[in-house]
Amino acid sequence: MKEAIDTAKYTERYIGKLGELTLKGSNEHFFERQLTTNLRLALEGVETKCYTRSGRLYVFCTKDSCQGTEYALEHLLGITGWAKVRVAAKNIASIEEAVTAVAKIEAENGAKSFKIEAKREDKAFPLNSYEISTQAAGQVFDSGLLKVDVHNPDIVIRVEVRDECYIYAEKKNGGRYGTCGNRGLPVGVSGKGLLLLSGGIDSPVAGYRMMRRGMKVECAYFHSYPYTSKEAEDKVHALAKTIADYGVDVHLNVIPFTDVQMKIKSGSPKDYTTLMLRVCMMKLSNMLARRINANCIITGESLGQVASQTAENLCVTESFAEVPLYRPLIGMDKEEITDTALRIGTYETSILPYEDCCVLFSPRHPVLKATVEDAHEIYKKLEIDELIQKAFDERKIFYYSLRDKVGTSFATKPFESRAGECSGKNRD
Ligand code: ATP
Ligand code: MG
Repeated sequence: MKEAIDTAKYTERYIGKLGELTLKGSNEHFFERQLTTNLRLALEGVETKCYTRSGRLYVFCTKDSCQGTEYALEHLLGITGWAKVRVAAKNIASIEEAVTAVAKIEAENGAKSFKIEAKREDKAFPLNSYEISTQAAGQVFDSGLLKVDVHNPDIVIRVEVRDECYIYAEKKNGGRYGTCGNRGLPVGVSGKGLLLLSGGIDSPVAGYRMMRRGMKVECAYFHSYPYTSKEAEDKVHALAKTIADYGVDVHLNVIPFTDVQMKIKSGSPKDYTTLMLRVCMMKLSNMLARRINANCIITGESLGQVASQTAENLCVTESFAEVPLYRPLIGMDKEEITDTALRIGTYETSILPYEDCCVLFSPRHPVLKATVEDAHEIYKKLEIDELIQKAFDERKIFYYSLRDKVGTSFATKPFESRAGECSGKNRD
């Protein structure tokens, strides 16, 4: 809903394009509402106002709030592109003036050529899109700031005539709008998933991919202290913080896994130890998924990547899952996964050299083609349910959010951090 906004205070303006959301027919409002909810939550610490209308996101902020606002627009899912805009009065003279001001800034930044693309959404405006473009382009051309190049311009200056006139520069490779957004659906429109987050490259990417389809993600990390170090756990906290940026917030459950792991090591055939670890992770994940009402469990598994991810062994793990198991990376190779990890900012953390619990307990020759029957038989003989329950009861819950990052780095009004251990109190 558009509210009365004090434009003398909120002098800076942004528009975002909601891309895929506009294809959702009668559900459009539900998607738009989720995006504004996410943005408002993310921007709790900075002075901003926002609303959506007709497939566009409108953000108003003060000069000091620009950095925080831009950080949120850059990260939050559901925005195809966004731009800082100039607002002109609804007449061609004001449009020409604003377009020339944008051209001047771009020329100072090194642009040599331009073209103008105008879009008249408000059909009551007396000039059509073509007439707006040519008149405004003539003005820039006359000013001598930039030359016209309709085929390969350094910048495209866009004019949108809506309830007001919005003018902004779209950079080369800047996407369909001023700056590329992360696209996807706003987190919160597609249920909830429990992400098994290890310190590796794959699982944060798996979580991001599901978030990009609008899924809210809660994380679980199985920690084997002292066999895995405190640094290994820190790494997972850092990864949770990074992926929280894309969907406002995440909870991270740290589950003490050492006792379970020791029992597996002493009580199952050597070649089955890694697979049994996976099985026990699945058992714990079932419990947690039920507790948090998750629709699925998400892993970063990719077919054939390691011994526990052969088609047969994936079948075994899946046979212990009591909710659907999502493996968004199943058909991707390491290079593709790494590309995404680099883009979303998890790669640098993932490659820090701290041991993963599975690596420490890996047998030299793990079973490659386990059978579901054998695995269930071995699991039964392990008599490990009590230890699994204990690990579940002793888990610790932490909370991380984009709101915290924006609030603590760019706050323009009083802000109270909620990051850190929370024992579930911040949960939904
Ligand atoms: P890498 O990127 O090095 O492959 P990984 O985390 O994917 O690291 P894998 O051994 O391939 O490691 O594990 C497969 C999947 O199982 C992970 O993507 C993750 O979802 C889950 N997993 C493995 N170890 C853990 C752990 N300690 N805590 C939580 N989830 C884990
Ligand atoms: Mg992996």
